[in-house]
Amino acid sequence: MPTIHHLDGATLRPAGGLELVGADELVSHVLVIELGSRLVLVDAGIGLADVASPIERLGAEFCELSGPVLDADRTVARQLGSLGLVADQVTDVLVTHPDLDHVGGLADVPQARVHAHPDAVTAVRHPTEPRDIDRVHAAQWAHEVEWAPAPTPRAPWHGLDAWSLDDFGDDIVMVGLPGHATGHVGYAVRNGGGWLLHAGDAYFHRAAVAGGEVPPGLEIFEGIVEQDRAARLDTVARLRALPPEVTVVCSHDPIELAGVRERGASPRPGV
Ligand SMILES: [Zn+2]
Repeated sequence: MPTIHHLDGATLRPAGGLELVGADELVSHVLVIELGSRLVLVDAGIGLADVASPIERLGAEFCELSGPVLDADRTVARQLGSLGLVADQVTDVLVTHPDLDHVGGLADVPQARVHAHPDAVTAVRHPTEPRDIDRVHAAQWAHEVEWAPAPTPRAPWHGLDAWSLDDFGDDIVMVGLPGHATGHVGYAVRNGGGWLLHAGDAYFHRAAVAGGEVPPGLEIFEGIVEQDRAARLDTVARLRALPPEVTVVCSHDPIELAGVRERGASPRPGV
C-alpha cells in the first residue's frame, strides 16, 4: 500500500488575489508517493532553476499574472528533506499536464522517468497548437528528459478513460480528465480501502466537485485557460459523480490541500 504525502510545490499569489480567486494565495498540490522501492511525484511544481531564472523559464507574463513565490526552500526538491527524503531518490514523476507551474521541478530530478499522456508528450516535444506553443516553455525541458514508456489503455476507471503505467500495476492509474490542456490527465492512487485521485487542473476550487459556490473570478480564469470548454465541464460533472471512496483533490486549492494533509496519515512525525 503506498504512503502518500502532500506538498505545495508552487505557491501562487495571482493578480487580483482574494477577490479573484477567493483566497490570498493558491497552492500547487504535489503528491509524494512511497511505493515499494519507488519514490513517485505527481507533478513537480516550480523548481530551483525557475526560482533562479524566473523570466527565462517561467516568462514575465506568468510571473506577473500568477505571482509565483520564488523561494528555493519551497521547491519540492528542498521540501523532500522534511520527509526524510532526497531528490535523488525520486524514480518517477507523473505529470498531469505540462503547464509551467507543474513541470519546472522536473529539472531537479533528472534521473526520474517522466510519465504523461501521449498527447501531452507530443505537445512538449513537437507543439503545433498555438495554445501548446504558448504554454510549453522550452527552457523547462532543456535538460535530458527520461520519458517513461507510453501508458497502456486499460478498462475504464469509474467510467473515465484510463491507462496503466509501466511498473505500477493497479496501485496507480492514469485517468483521462480532458478539457484544461492537451492530454490533461489525473492519477488515481490506491489509498486505504479507496482511492486518492489527483485531478490536476480539471477544476480549481473544491466547490466545483464538492458543491457550493466557485468564486466568480476563478470561474472566469478557468474559462480563459481552458482548451476545450465542453470537455472540461463534462470532466467536472464526472468528478462530481465519483463515489465516496474516491477522495478527489486538484492542484491549486489551498483549503483542499490543508484538509487532506490533516486527514491523511503520515508515518513521520512533524509532517
Ligand atoms: Zn495549474
